Amino acid sequence: MADRRQIPWSSALDGKTGKAYWRSLAELLETPELREAAAQALPGGDGDAGAMSRRSWLKLLGASMALAGASGCNTRPADKIVPYVTTPPEVTPGILRYYATSLELDGFATGVLVENHEGRPTKVEGNPEHPASLGATGVYEQASVLGLYDRHRARAARRGAAPAAWETFVEQFGGARDDRGAGLRFLLRPTGSPLTLDLIGRVLERHPAARFTFHAPARSPHPARGAELAFGAPLQVQHDFRAADVILALDADFLASMPFSVRYSRQFAERRRIGSPTGAMNRLYVVEPGLSPTGSMADHRLRRRPSEVPAIAAAVAAELLLAGGARPGGVPAGALGALAPLRERVRAEDRPFVKALARDLARGGGASVVVVGERQPPAVHAIAHLMNTALQSDRAAWATAGTLISAGGAEQDLAALADEIRRGGVDTLVILENNVAYTAPADLELAARLRAVRTRVYLGLHEDETAALCDWFVPAAHDLEAWGDARAYDGTISLIQPLIEPLFQGRTASEVLTVFAGEPRRAARDLLRDAWRARRGGADFEAFWEEALRRGLVDGTAAPRAMTALRPDGIAAALAQLAAAAPAPADAIEIAFSADASVYDGRFANNPWLLELPDPMTKLTWDNAALLSPETAKALGVESEDMVDVELRGRTLSIPVLVAPGHADGTVSLNLGYGRSGAESLAAGVGFNAYRLRTSDAPFFAAGASVRRRPGQKHRLALTQTHWSLHGRPIALSVPLAVYREHPDFTEALKGPQPSLLPQVHAPGEPLGQWAMTIDLTICTGCSACVVACQAENNILVVGKDEVLKSREMHWLRIDTYYSGDPRDPGVVHQPMLCQHCEKAPCEYVCPVNATTHSPDGLNEMTYNRCVGTRFCSNNCPYKVRRFNWFDYTELHAFNDGLVRLQRNPDVTVRERGVMEKCTYCVQRIRRAEIAARVEGREIRPGEVVTACQQACPTRAIQFGSLSHGETEMVAWRGEPRSFEVLHDQGTRPRNVYLARINNENPELVKP
Ligand code: SF4
Repeated sequence: MADRRQIPWSSALDGKTGKAYWRSLAELLETPELREAAAQALPGGDGDAGAMSRRSWLKLLGASMALAGASGCNTRPADKIVPYVTTPPEVTPGILRYYATSLELDGFATGVLVENHEGRPTKVEGNPEHPASLGATGVYEQASVLGLYDRHRARAARRGAAPAAWETFVEQFGGARDDRGAGLRFLLRPTGSPLTLDLIGRVLERHPAARFTFHAPARSPHPARGAELAFGAPLQVQHDFRAADVILALDADFLASMPFSVRYSRQFAERRRIGSPTGAMNRLYVVEPGLSPTGSMADHRLRRRPSEVPAIAAAVAAELLLAGGARPGGVPAGALGALAPLRERVRAEDRPFVKALARDLARGGGASVVVVGERQPPAVHAIAHLMNTALQSDRAAWATAGTLISAGGAEQDLAALADEIRRGGVDTLVILENNVAYTAPADLELAARLRAVRTRVYLGLHEDETAALCDWFVPAAHDLEAWGDARAYDGTISLIQPLIEPLFQGRTASEVLTVFAGEPRRAARDLLRDAWRARRGGADFEAFWEEALRRGLVDGTAAPRAMTALRPDGIAAALAQLAAAAPAPADAIEIAFSADASVYDGRFANNPWLLELPDPMTKLTWDNAALLSPETAKALGVESEDMVDVELRGRTLSIPVLVAPGHADGTVSLNLGYGRSGAESLAAGVGFNAYRLRTSDAPFFAAGASVRRRPGQKHRLALTQTHWSLHGRPIALSVPLAVYREHPDFTEALKGPQPSLLPQVHAPGEPLGQWAMTIDLTICTGCSACVVACQAENNILVVGKDEVLKSREMHWLRIDTYYSGDPRDPGVVHQPMLCQHCEKAPCEYVCPVNATTHSPDGLNEMTYNRCVGTRFCSNNCPYKVRRFNWFDYTELHAFNDGLVRLQRNPDVTVRERGVMEKCTYCVQRIRRAEIAARVEGREIRPGEVVTACQQACPTRAIQFGSLSHGETEMVAWRGEPRSFEVLHDQGTRPRNVYLARINNENPELVKP
């Protein structure tokens, strides 16, 4: 483990001596390329200007503006528009409305509120009443609205290549079959939908020999199997991190990629945020192969190969149960003896970590919890149940019945389905929104076998890889066009209602199942309502139904706690499995597969917001790469952007390398979801298809891989991590809790008034609300939900990979990730960086046309009409948060044009070429609240204005409001000792104040 105390905190603060923070390995090593890039005031800014001088460029710009003016004199052809003849009573033009619905990902629903402008969904927010959301969202929810307007969505049903009508489909498949469904197979995504369960039952009544397969490449059956080992039933583990003082996460990215991660992030942050130096905070230990958002929040992190994680879990259990004294009656006595030899299975250098961790867990007792990631084998999950039972941590971890539906005896797994197809036992395969030709394990060769099925039916959003192999294709309704129901991870019934009529006559999976159930052609809404009427009944059904739809959920439907007692034989079996599973040889290379943080399993690969969203840890956009540790890269003789062949069991994938700090040696991390070859043209040619290496017996980890450099072959990676260098200055701060307690004033030099020759423009205390933001770095996980939320709210355009390579991404808010210490085990700080709305704004003094000015309520404003594009402001901004429209991105790129224009927020200008733009503190929301307050004859209330980033943030790391509302958290947090202003020495008086990150290290693991 790196000793973070060796970092010279005091010298880090003056930023002149000792380089404690770095953004990339290139910056750490000070490569010539980076020095050259950093030397440019605006990286990439003059890249296309060639030999043209700034003066010539300005002349040309002036001429083009004059011409634009001339063309503006032309008379446009007259267009007729048609007003509402009778305005719907619920529509007031200009007034937005919210509707509750749910978005389901691999069977687990998140409740959302969707903003609607005159019937047009434009923005997704969290539903504060929904347990999976608590008012916040993740990146997928935020980006879902762009998926609705995806111009590459399939628009019509077809049979073969010929257009076909839904009625023809109903006619062909609605009839009875002679074989009782013996050759009929369905392939679905996992779901918790009670309606789908009903319909499966009805299909089986008619076709009792039919079979159902649920497949999701990113989900694993291991947690359920682990619970089966430990408790004798495939239960689902639930957590409440508010009850946890000490957390051990074994390859468990519970803050970002596990189901319920938005809720878990909120709970974790509630116990993480420390209000004063004497306050308490939780402690997080993480063991994982690649650096995840959860790993980046760890107080102690062990980077280990996937095959070593089970050994570490067993060793911690052994220490805890044999030496830690945690032996409550629930732990089977026989299990303890089998644990003893497992203590020796970890590396000698890890033993102090394991012992100290076990002691800490034991000290925490019921306030300690062990959480295991889905990728880990069932035995590790069982061992975690053993440890949690021993710790009596039933407030932080408990089990419920599984919330996903099952087809019971009519269910089969994907391998069994593939085998049936191979044997010719399937004559009709109905695939419902499951791009299995792309995602199925390579050894099943499903794509090649599908053609052997006589009739292949596909319901999908896109004409993707699977659609290309199917003879019947039906366009699917987007989640925001559909009626349905689902369950949250805790079992809460969540309702799905459409925000818009299906744009392309899309159908839902329920409607397709109804056809096979031989039921009359019923609208999706009636199906759902009737199913609920049958289930719930009662004279008050209509009132119940209205209320459930209004709120998006049905109260009191969370799954109850299951009775759990450990099964001695199951625990013994788990321990035997762990004893038998030796870590792979030290020189073997292991592969770790993960769903991608942006495109997930590939289903979001045509969403340009997500493609351009920097990965939370690597900051890679528009690509995936083979992540390697610095040591492994050195041993293999490769560096970032080198193309390599990764070979596993005779299968090869060519992919570029990205050397990643904090990555385990001897491990290659591959993200799934790229290298698509369907009709989604934005996804085509982006990244590399890691599914090619994935087999059904090793879906998450595989040992025995080899990596070979492809001589002379390079692939450029569009990494935003190296943009906007900090030049060694103390921008993000992080100290251990002990240091904070000893020196609570450690940020004293980074705040307070500065002498200045410049006049104070507007200051706190003036009668108008003075807007400001406070951001707590201790609880920012880097998840980037705020970045997509800002993009959706403010019509921020996508620029594409070539422009990102020139540092021209347009995000108004970026998450800078700073590393400190040893690149093998770095400390990490995530810092949301946006316009600081400086009271003495350097950008304002240099604008020759007064395009950027200060508002009376403390906003640094941009008047787009005035901007002539000199970019002096951006050059003079020390925070590098201003974005210039080099091109007319609205029309230049397919990702900003066409149907996606329907997503635009009508309250925000869409900027054109040649203007500067940046964060406005969501001024449109401020003005809306002001108007509402004025109409009602009152002042704006505390907390009434919420910025888009603040609203999306799962951890509530961002607080916004008026400085005159002293009772808000935004104001209270600014008074904490660890608050500081970024680049305080510049005298800019930023309205954004940050709170330094505090790490709660275990004194036993800190070197003196
Ligand atoms: S501030 Fe942004 S990146 Fe940080 S936790 Fe909140 S949403 Fe995620």
